[in-house]
Amino acid sequence: MEGCVFCRIVAKEVQSKIAYEDEEVVAFHDVNPQAPVHILIVPRKHIPTLNDAVDEDQALLGKMMLVAQKLARELSVADSGYRLVLNTNRGAGQSVFHIHLHLLGGRLFHWPPG
Ligand code: AMP
Repeated sequence: MEGCVFCRIVAKEVQSKIAYEDEEVVAFHDVNPQAPVHILIVPRKHIPTLNDAVDEDQALLGKMMLVAQKLARELSVADSGYRLVLNTNRGAGQSVFHIHLHLLGGRLFHWPPG
């Protein structure tokens, strides 16, 4: 979608440090990391928020979780622990309106989140 920074990353029009990609999903390092490991897992399909996902996106959403699991293993945070975050709308902190899963690891996380 025009003007969407994550669509531009997926299209390689904007540079990013890619950690994983396949025909459906791209994962890249967050430009402003909140933990030693901070990767964003995004679908190539432009879905603005989780509220916009439909039944046909079910496998895609599941795929994003499994890519997170694979990257957590590769980046050696699977055993120590990691957090997956999917902010939905501004009240939850969403700032880029192309659905993305944050994979955070490599430090201690507290609960409840801020
Ligand atoms: P959210 O606040 O959940 O929408 O998360 C958006 C995330 O995208 C933030 O953690 C930003 O640091 C990150 N971000 C924004 N632009 C870029 C970019 N060009 N490359 C990598 N990460 C980005």
